[in-house]
Amino acid sequence: MRNLTRAFGNFEKTRGQWRQSPVLSFADFLQEVVKYPNRVIRDVYHVYSDMIDAYVCDGVDEYGDDPESIQFLKYDCSRLFADGSDRPFFADRLFANRLMRHVDSFKVGAKQNKIYIFDGPHGSGKSTFLNNLLRKFEEYSNSPEGSRYEVVWRLKHEHLVGGVHNYNSLAEKLAWVLDSDGKKNLSEEAKDNGCEDTESGDYFHVPCPSHDNPLLLVPKEIRRQFFDDLFENDEFKWQLFTEKKYEWIFHEEPCTICVSLYQELLKKYRDPIKVMECVYARPYIFNRRLGEGVSVFNPGDKPLRNTIMSNEVVQRSLDALLCGSKHVSYLYSRYAKTNNGIYALMDIKSNNTDRLMELHNIISDGVHKVEDIEEQVNSLLFALMNPEDKKLLEDLHAFADRVEYINIPYVLDLQTEVDIYRENFGKHINETFLPRVLHNFARVIIATRLRTKSDAMDEWIGKSDKYELYCDTNLQLLKMEIFTGYIPGWLTEEDVANFTAKRRQKIVAESEKDGWKGFSGRDSIRLFNEFYSIYARPDKLIDMSMLGKFFRKYCKEDRDILPMGFLDSLLRMYNYTVLQEVKESLYYYNEEQISKDIVNYIFAVNFEPDTVEYCEFTGEKLEITEEFFARIEARLQVDSGGNNTFRNNVQKTYSTTALPQEMLRDGLDITETSLYQHLYEKCTYNLKEKVLEPFLKNENFRRAVKDYNHEDFKTYDEKIQSDVTYMMQNLQHKYRYSRQGAKEICIYVVDNDLAKIFSESKPAVS
Ligand SMILES: [Zn+2]
Repeated sequence: MRNLTRAFGNFEKTRGQWRQSPVLSFADFLQEVVKYPNRVIRDVYHVYSDMIDAYVCDGVDEYGDDPESIQFLKYDCSRLFADGSDRPFFADRLFANRLMRHVDSFKVGAKQNKIYIFDGPHGSGKSTFLNNLLRKFEEYSNSPEGSRYEVVWRLKHEHLVGGVHNYNSLAEKLAWVLDSDGKKNLSEEAKDNGCEDTESGDYFHVPCPSHDNPLLLVPKEIRRQFFDDLFENDEFKWQLFTEKKYEWIFHEEPCTICVSLYQELLKKYRDPIKVMECVYARPYIFNRRLGEGVSVFNPGDKPLRNTIMSNEVVQRSLDALLCGSKHVSYLYSRYAKTNNGIYALMDIKSNNTDRLMELHNIISDGVHKVEDIEEQVNSLLFALMNPEDKKLLEDLHAFADRVEYINIPYVLDLQTEVDIYRENFGKHINETFLPRVLHNFARVIIATRLRTKSDAMDEWIGKSDKYELYCDTNLQLLKMEIFTGYIPGWLTEEDVANFTAKRRQKIVAESEKDGWKGFSGRDSIRLFNEFYSIYARPDKLIDMSMLGKFFRKYCKEDRDILPMGFLDSLLRMYNYTVLQEVKESLYYYNEEQISKDIVNYIFAVNFEPDTVEYCEFTGEKLEITEEFFARIEARLQVDSGGNNTFRNNVQKTYSTTALPQEMLRDGLDITETSLYQHLYEKCTYNLKEKVLEPFLKNENFRRAVKDYNHEDFKTYDEKIQSDVTYMMQNLQHKYRYSRQGAKEICIYVVDNDLAKIFSESKPAVS
């Protein structure tokens, strides 16, 4: 025979796990209540909203000081929906805001009695959303932050006829073992807690199938006084007695089993304190697979043959204990198991249709009958629904006030859409695209999901032709930016001023009707896969012409998939944007940067080239070289022949006027000196649209771009070299182009004569 000592010895390692779920006497439980009142006294709505708070940080408003802000915030939901999940769900900004408003309604704490239906088209990721949400709820509820207690009665055996250890059958034994599964051995804990009784055989336990909070066993008529005496006069007590979210603790009754057991024991012992000594508290353990605390039903799940649950062992022990008095029936339904938890239906179809009807009846009546017993159902009720199943509910007028819809349409926020591609295909996809092209793929996908007509946009912008350079005629591109939380810089001042809170509300409210058609989440991944496998190359970045070609093919197949001219508008918007990028990269429009450069320059002229100094005004470390001087002098329009004279003049003015008189004597800042102001004006004077043209028309410039980073680059004249280097570096640093991408985009701007096209078409903004 094999010696099993060592093998069994491994179980020793798991011994500590029991400690995690203590079982407390009612008195010890009350100590816990006093210590952690905010945690222990929570109903399911409260725990649910705490869970969301725990996983989702406060939203961010990118335009924090905007007086017209409507708190349309950026929420990071990744900890809730993505972390640790095999199938992450991506909440776009619109849905995240909707979800947070839904959770806010729980924070107020009014009792809900509603079914929350997440309504969205096929392929919008509803079931992934719900699965991830429930998984986190389960995880949170079993963590110290999310844990609550439930009632378990600990009763003494009166007659040991067929007692706990005399199982009649294996099935009974199993039932008993399963019943105590995951929960602590009571007598063991009692020993740890210093209780006298150690013979576990003398006791049996009756868990409350409805997971009642043990505080509910304090008789309702004395609860107010009881809590008043239990807590100090502190902030929590004030909240408990005044806030709506705690009302339930004063109004709710325990389940029928607990009530009748309490009454029968009271008859028997004639002492409420003695009855309360039988009440223990243990952690309410959530287990979706066992349907404890969280239950999810699929349409194909068959209805239970036996809707009434019981436990023969518990029943027999109860009967023995209470012999001669009224019978306590240990009967309950499936709903009891998710009382104080979440009951969810995946899709309202086939068997789930019946379940929804039943739920509706239950919440309308407030109770549910199990044989003669009334069972309360205080669960958070969720369901998912496809648009075509909605008809079912329309027939039932009574449903209207019991159902709250939360729309979960296709993703409409391009940032989120791009995140989905990155999740599915890997972050490295960025490197195969020229900047912005990946986002433009997302824009095309989202355009198929948006309606073309928008009253809110029409009312705000009026005629869209003023923006024809940057936007499509239906203003879908503008709408997408707003859905992503971005107010584009090309809007006229007037339109920005008219972008009032009221208009924003209207546009966001209209979004509820978008995202119900077009390419689904699944479609977009399929399309992206197709696109990526055709065009991703190691030697050539994916550009707009590839994007156009790809989607034009789809437009031919289905003319209604995209609005007329959308792809052309998208290209125009792209061209305008990259032109700005190239311009910005060639010149400093950035006033702060211009200012810093000038201050650094004034400081540097006091030193010989090829030294390193820290500028005493900006604090920046300056590598003072000929190149450094040349770069700034180029922007000051100093021709290379006169640069030494210029530098000397600046140095002289600084040491004779600016420093001793204006700064030291008059206490002015260096940026207030006339030298600085002169240089600043000189620098900005020519930084206008036209300035780019000589460069772009210059064939040398174009060739220098192509030769950048090659040996031949050194053959160009110094100014071209310095400009091209400067531009390339900026494109890489400021606009995240790769070295190759920076080159490609410059050649693209030059070859397509974009500067000319946009200067002739007279943009609406100056
Ligand atoms: Zn109960």
